Amino acid sequence: MSETIFTKIIKREIPANIVHEDDQIIVFHDINPRAPVHLLLVPKKPIPTLADVAEEDLHLITHIHREAQRLAKELNFEGWRMLINVGEKGGQEVFHLHYHLLGWPRE
Ligand code: 5GP
Repeated sequence: MSETIFTKIIKREIPANIVHEDDQIIVFHDINPRAPVHLLLVPKKPIPTLADVAEEDLHLITHIHREAQRLAKELNFEGWRMLINVGEKGGQEVFHLHYHLLGWPRE
């Protein structure tokens, strides 16, 4: 797989507004937000799409969901949405698996 913009963010080759990082994932603000808060939750392992997730990767999916729960609480979201685009036809532009977390904080 050729290197994507997200791998460059993980390697700190290009800047991003990072809100969380651990050994498995990185979370940063989307450059083109489509909600009051728009984060991208990205596994460090460069899996191209959700369709490529293997049994051995399922811990990453669980971890991303748990981190989304934690961030939604920390950022005081009243409502939120998780979204994954899969494939070009599905609207995916960056072929490194990522979850969009769209959040609407309490007033
Ligand atoms: P996709 O369409 O692949 O599901 O989503 C890719 C997302 O990455 C888009 O929402 C786009 O705005 C975001 N994005 C693309 N390039 C960059 C970048 O260089 N920095 C950040 N922070 N987000 C990016």
